[in-house]
Amino acid sequence: HLLSKMQKVSNSIQVCCRIRPLKHSEIVTQERVTVEPLSETEVGCLDSKSKKWRSYIFDKVFGPDQTQQDVFEEVEPLCLSVVDGFNACIFAYGQTGSGKTFTMEGNEEDNQWGICTRTLHKVFEILNFRRESFVASPSAADASDDNSSECNFDFTIELGMLEIYNDDVRDILSQDVISVDLKRDLAGKIQAQGLTKVAVKNLQDVIEVMKRGNNNRSVACTNINDQSSRSHMVLQATIVSGTTGQPQTTGQLNLVDLAGSERVAKSNVVGKELKEAQHINLSLSALGDVMEALDKKSSHIPYRNSKLTYFLQDSLGGNSRTMMIVTACPAESSVDETHCALQFATRVR
Ligand code: ADP
Ligand code: MG
Repeated sequence: HLLSKMQKVSNSIQVCCRIRPLKHSEIVTQERVTVEPLSETEVGCLDSKSKKWRSYIFDKVFGPDQTQQDVFEEVEPLCLSVVDGFNACIFAYGQTGSGKTFTMEGNEEDNQWGICTRTLHKVFEILNFRRESFVASPSAADASDDNSSECNFDFTIELGMLEIYNDDVRDILSQDVISVDLKRDLAGKIQAQGLTKVAVKNLQDVIEVMKRGNNNRSVACTNINDQSSRSHMVLQATIVSGTTGQPQTTGQLNLVDLAGSERVAKSNVVGKELKEAQHINLSLSALGDVMEALDKKSSHIPYRNSKLTYFLQDSLGGNSRTMMIVTACPAESSVDETHCALQFATRVR
């Protein structure tokens, strides 16, 4: 089942769209729905000026009735390829309030687990199964001269969490939320220098790490929603597995809750807000440029144009798999922003 799905993701970049339901407050104000799924792969969005519906094509469309599990099933093959040594990135892109955090991190209180927890849950399940069902082949046992009975399959999973705000990369699992530098290591891989990595043994550990990161993220500012909409958040899981005495397999999964894609009207923002808006615009368009270049198989991929793409370059392109989930608010009052987000997605697809 998984293998047949794997074939489907052979294309290295997938772009999906998820339309959330109207919120209670939007129902109260009798918001009109102007963004709708037309089919499994098509979204219709009413153009506020021409009053005509425009359609946008995706690899997959999730409507307001589709569940966290439905979305997870689509990303599952891509996420799980990390246990076999692939790198993968999933991005949630959309305006503030469209459902990025709900999709990636979910809502624990209502048992609405998002992609992060569902994926790591499955990764633990697969690797625990491999460990328990591992039987050393007789030849492998012969080959190791001493402790021949000590041949095992084992794995480690480490989590790092960082936030990219303006041009600053911050370690949000460190005590004081310190800034970190991005450097190439001896193997040529980009590393966040000194980034805190926490080994996790089970899902409970994962949930605690994510809570710690999210708490640290909000310490630095007075309004958590404000902060989270203006910075990118990356949860990075490094999964190393293998049998005793054999080369280890390493896969890296990057789950990214992007800064809000809303365009800030240039005329009425100044100072700190203007700087933030410029950085967000720059980094989101740099991400779009990278994905477009990868899709076109260009010889030059412009990773260096933003901290976000520079940091993630080992997990974008090459053997890596990438998915962008564009989240959309269905309400008429957001329809212009929604067009922009859908258009962005069309560019990278
Ligand atoms: P963002 O991170 O893009 O700013 P959120 O994920 O915080 O947006 O979503 C805004 C609100 O809408 C939250 O209250 C969230 O719980 C709710 N929401 C988002 N997507 C869905 C969905 N698919 N189903 C139900 N509620 C959702
Ligand atoms: Mg959010």
